[in-house]
Amino acid sequence: MEYKKNDILTVTIGDIGNDGEGIGKIDGFTLFVKDAVIGDVVLVKIMKAKKHYAYARLEKVLTPSPFRVKPPCAFHRQCGGCQIQAMSYERQMQFKEDKIKGNLIHIGKFEESLIDRIMEPVVGMEEAFHYRNKAQFPVGTDKEGNPIVGFYAGRTHTIIENKDCLLGVSENKEILETILGYMKREKVRAYKEETGEGLIRHILIRTGFSSKQIMVCIVINGGRMTNGRFLPQEDTLLADLKKIKNMTSISVCINRERTNVIMGKEVYTLWGEDRITDSICIREGEDFRRTGKEIFFKVSPLSFYQVNPIQTEKLYSIALDYAGLTGEETVWDLYCGIGTISLFLAQKAKKVYGVEIVPQAIRDAKENAANNGIKNVEFFVGKAEEVLPDKYEKEGVYADVIVVDPPRKGCDAVCLETMLRMKPERIVYVSCDSATLARDLRVLCDGGYELVRGRGVDQFGQTVHVETVVLIQRKDT
Ligand code: SAH
Repeated sequence: MEYKKNDILTVTIGDIGNDGEGIGKIDGFTLFVKDAVIGDVVLVKIMKAKKHYAYARLEKVLTPSPFRVKPPCAFHRQCGGCQIQAMSYERQMQFKEDKIKGNLIHIGKFEESLIDRIMEPVVGMEEAFHYRNKAQFPVGTDKEGNPIVGFYAGRTHTIIENKDCLLGVSENKEILETILGYMKREKVRAYKEETGEGLIRHILIRTGFSSKQIMVCIVINGGRMTNGRFLPQEDTLLADLKKIKNMTSISVCINRERTNVIMGKEVYTLWGEDRITDSICIREGEDFRRTGKEIFFKVSPLSFYQVNPIQTEKLYSIALDYAGLTGEETVWDLYCGIGTISLFLAQKAKKVYGVEIVPQAIRDAKENAANNGIKNVEFFVGKAEEVLPDKYEKEGVYADVIVVDPPRKGCDAVCLETMLRMKPERIVYVSCDSATLARDLRVLCDGGYELVRGRGVDQFGQTVHVETVVLIQRKDT
């Protein structure tokens, strides 16, 4: 049977795709249905049909799945952010565990029995909303010409107005309303992607969960004006913003490029500190109790800092446990950001070296080490795939343990190859994309390592993303 556009069908959703979409089959014909939950019986309309499969729109849930919950956010279907908000949190955890295992088996070509044996259960959150410490809101204009903020609708650049995303902190709303009020009052225009005109592009807000400090960074399509300021009637905006409780740092970031990259390279502080401080603490035991000493971190607008601080503490604790340090080891922390993992490792290692591509992050990392009185760390700015081979070939550096935490695209081939030549006893791979993790682990395991432990950590509830930590060990030790 073949189906065509606009056909209306009833289908039972029997599977979930990697992007969280429901998958249903009718006589071997596959339907991909966004927003349908596994176990639902749904009425769908075909939007795009191919010979053996089609993309269909969810029209009506006929029989709700036992895993279906009422999504608390009114915008969840339009917004691209929370793909699986209509799925119970327990089922989300199962989905994430299956996704990691599936990638390790299908992309990494590991035996299913091995994966089932070594993978520990995904670490979930106690509170699966309001967990993000960072939000980047695009600014636009509505039909009446009023400035608005919100989120891009899935796969588009249409802004869905929303000042109170449920993944973020409740303070965001007051900050956004203050900036919108200023824009309206002073007739400051939002940036328009189509024409490249207008001034205000994005608003970045970061909140220190333990310090409560707030950072606001306004991304503008402009530079310093003749009066030395960046924004029209800048003082009136600053006067309003600094009244907000715990406001610590207000800055602008210049981005005049006509791309969809959010942040530019230059940041200027308008009021307060250049950075905010936050602290994280190691957790131990089955229930991940906070133990040990807090480490304080300064975070700049351009530095990477994990967005879910509570789960990050669990993630780092697992990484530290997997690293198996006794105090004697030399450790490399590649893709180290502001040195968060490095400083935890340093408390249990002889020496830690961190490598990171963003210069501001390394500046933060060095200061963070000094401020916490941690002396056995050294940081280098550059690409992991350039710094590591360079140090290895020219200086013969050594590693007992290497920790990597690359962005979604995974490690560069040269980086993997250098690690294999350095032959550390253990490699701890922290990954935000289990597909590239599986690809890289295959290379490392073919090069003499074996998979020993692995665990998912849910840093991004309601979304299809999941973080994974894996320990691999050299076979001939
Ligand atoms: N380990 C840190 C940061 C992880 S995010 C933490 O947990 O906070 C990944 C980091 O890799 C980012 O800071 C990014 O700037 C950096 N990065 C991206 N490509 C890189 C490369 N080729 N070499 C080194 N660092 C890189």
